[in-house]
Amino acid sequence: MTTRRDFLAGGLALAAGRAFGQSPGGARQRVVIVGGGWGGLTAAARLRRVAPELELTLVEREAVFRSLPLSNAWLLGRAPEALPRQDYAAVASAMGYRYLQAEVSAIDRERRRVQAGPQALDYDWLILAAGIRYDYAPWLGDDPRAIEAVRRLYPAGYVAGELDVLRRKLDEFKGGDLLMTVPSGPSRCPPAPYERAVMIAASLKSRKITGRLLLVDAGGGMQRFNRVFAERYKDQIQHLTHATVKAIDPFARILATEFDEIRFDDAIIIPPQGAADIVRQAGLLETDAAGRPGAWAGFDPLHLHAVGDERVFLVGDLLGRASPLFGAYPKSAHMAARQGRIVADAIIARSRGVPPAPTLPDSECHVHTAVDPAETMRIEARYRLRGDGLIVQTVRQHEDPQPRGEDVAWGRALYAEMLGRNPT
Ligand SMILES: Cc1cc2nc3c(=O)[nH]c(=O)nc-3n(C[C@H](O)[C@H](O)[C@H](O)COP(=O)(O)OP(=O)(O)OC[C@H]3O[C@@H](n4cnc5c(N)ncnc54)[C@H](O)[C@@H]3O)c2cc1C
Repeated sequence: MTTRRDFLAGGLALAAGRAFGQSPGGARQRVVIVGGGWGGLTAAARLRRVAPELELTLVEREAVFRSLPLSNAWLLGRAPEALPRQDYAAVASAMGYRYLQAEVSAIDRERRRVQAGPQALDYDWLILAAGIRYDYAPWLGDDPRAIEAVRRLYPAGYVAGELDVLRRKLDEFKGGDLLMTVPSGPSRCPPAPYERAVMIAASLKSRKITGRLLLVDAGGGMQRFNRVFAERYKDQIQHLTHATVKAIDPFARILATEFDEIRFDDAIIIPPQGAADIVRQAGLLETDAAGRPGAWAGFDPLHLHAVGDERVFLVGDLLGRASPLFGAYPKSAHMAARQGRIVADAIIARSRGVPPAPTLPDSECHVHTAVDPAETMRIEARYRLRGDGLIVQTVRQHEDPQPRGEDVAWGRALYAEMLGRNPT
């Protein structure tokens, strides 16, 4: 559907004497999207629907999209339906854009060129929606053998490609101490480890497995979950709060905190995180006052483009600080999808010669706080611009003691937006 704003934007560009989506030389303008997660797919869908005149390529290393939202229930066999899988080639052909399965290894912002596998792709507009990287260094140093062992034996399940291995691990867990870490610092979907802990504990209880989950938590947990752990799962969850991991020996199966050495039989190591590697390669990490690079991408908070480069837009979990008032936006699928929509609109406006209006995103996250019977919590974040130009955040939590599938309905609405149809 063309909105009034799209229509006006188009009118202005035509008035300027140029056809939609063409560069001054008359060629079609090219948009390249790196990463086909929630942010990248939503941006692609919006661009294709509203601006068919733009040439659009989505580059993604995987062949199949899988959802991390709702994955905790799926991991323990409690999802109301199968976790959707979407073949990228099929989605792209139905929507009418080009999909290239490749690893982007370099971005040359001077020449506006992306190296995707053996191919070089030129762009007029680039959207980086590449998600996160695991940063094992604080716990494992730079020991490649230990890092490889942790990835293989104790995957976090924080990138979709690890879900099958993790599900098999949880299926096969027959007892003993299962350890799961909760890292400090900004991370993907902060309530996710606690929701997963509830699912694991409920499964241990219902399958009458003599075993427990050792939750080694860098912080103090979340109030609602702490209460559930104590009231319902005190035999299944041992929650070690404010525990700073110092080292992990994946071969001897020992984790050291500053006070203890903890032995484990099996583990899910959720490590500290940062923006995907390609962000660093492209020179887009945020810097501190002394110019030292941080772990996340720097960006213009009002327009979501890179600092000093209005041809490159950044979307989703890879983003760093949005405001000194609250730090980073929540790293949620909902947020990534909203930002995908916002940058698509910004590119459409800019390609038509119109300055984009600043638009702020919002976030909504549904998590299970208990099962048997189920209880859920909806965490909503809203944003507004203060008079001095800073973004203000308001977060509200709603507890729902009688959920009726709101989480699934929420997921389906987002899928429909990014796939142009309901998931199969
Ligand atoms: C267990 C769990 C539960 C969650 N539950 C919820 C929830 O209930 N609600 C919610 O809103 N959010 C939830 N989230 C968070 C949500 O999954 C993320 O916020 C979301 O995936 C972020 O989207 P994104 O587009 O930024 O990144 P991603 O979805 O990770 O997409 C990035 C894509 O980029 C690709 N990529 C990266 N680098 C390259 C490269 N160099 N070349 C080619 N391709 C590349 C990756 O393969 C990936 O497909 C959950 C997360 C976890 C881990």
